[in-house]
Amino acid sequence: MGLNRSTIKALVEELVDRGLVSEIIPDTAARAGRPSHVVVPRSDTVHVLAAELGVDTTTVAAVGLGGAVLARRQYMSTSPSPVDQTVDRLAAELADLQSEMGGRLVGVGVAVPGLVQGSDGWVELAPNLGWREVPFGKLLARRLGLDVPVKVGNDGHVGGLAEHLRGSGQGTDNLLYVSGDVGVGGGIILDGRIQLGACGYAGEIGHMMVNPNGRPCRCGGRGCFETEVGEESVLVACGRSPDAGRAGLREVFAAAALGEPAAVAGLHDVVIWLARGLASLVNVLDTELVILGGTLAGLLPAVGPGLAAELASLTTLTSRHPVPIVASGLGEDSAMVGAAELAFEPLIAHPLGAFEPSRLVPPPSAPTSASAAGVAV
Ligand SMILES: [Zn+2]
Repeated sequence: MGLNRSTIKALVEELVDRGLVSEIIPDTAARAGRPSHVVVPRSDTVHVLAAELGVDTTTVAAVGLGGAVLARRQYMSTSPSPVDQTVDRLAAELADLQSEMGGRLVGVGVAVPGLVQGSDGWVELAPNLGWREVPFGKLLARRLGLDVPVKVGNDGHVGGLAEHLRGSGQGTDNLLYVSGDVGVGGGIILDGRIQLGACGYAGEIGHMMVNPNGRPCRCGGRGCFETEVGEESVLVACGRSPDAGRAGLREVFAAAALGEPAAVAGLHDVVIWLARGLASLVNVLDTELVILGGTLAGLLPAVGPGLAAELASLTTLTSRHPVPIVASGLGEDSAMVGAAELAFEPLIAHPLGAFEPSRLVPPPSAPTSASAAGVAV
């Protein structure tokens, strides 16, 4: 950044005073010379509430600065999901979690499986929730009634962001994140930045057509990526009920590992369409890594080498440097952790101006019981 040592020292001291970072001395016993201090975020002084609104399961969590998940819970949701009921339930769960956490809340972030315009949370379309033109962020903020920003993002975008910052994509500036559950979403990171497009809808890869003779899709199209590799398609291809859900998928993956013919053949078909979709994207975007998230990540132990070979055969431009395909590093939490990153954005942008020191650091002599509980979680 071109700053001199004394300027950095003064800035770091201000952040330390506000309880946002601490300085540690790394374990460098094996190395010669005086060790440098390392500045690390403190996850015990401020936190955000984050949620991933799923089609069948919703996850809510308290996340500390630096991405530390302090508390986490899930509840079943239904699809289609009436907006009022969804907002009421989510607000109640978040408020309950916050009363359990206590401490200093600085924001709320929610990942939504749909087209989200602007971080204030206008949901243009969320087909798998049955939503169209819903001011979701404003409704949730009003229902919560908390004096903190409420941010909303597309689940693929924030999942990709989280994987880039804290998961399998750390250190990789050009990557494609593909998350598959009931729907399929995507996050594109190029030059280290999430790509949003003109309206914020970039990465909507679930309805990219991969199979002209494929199954009809709820978007009105046919043979979409989602209808060929989404959760229900994998189950049907393997001879299972489309309603078997995540438990059904786990059973299919286990059966394939044991060599069950229906599971092996079904997953082989899925690999073909998955590789076609991924190849089109990798050829267009020139990414150096593909990260599979959601239940798609579960495919890798069963069919990883076959998928990599199929992708390599279709991405001719990169055949000398095959693009690795890896599972999400954050497991099922990618979108939730990404939603937390959104919620932290105002604090990160103005760490000294947005919050008074008195709101962030209680006097050492008189800790409140609420903040003590927050630290202990
Ligand atoms: Zn579609």
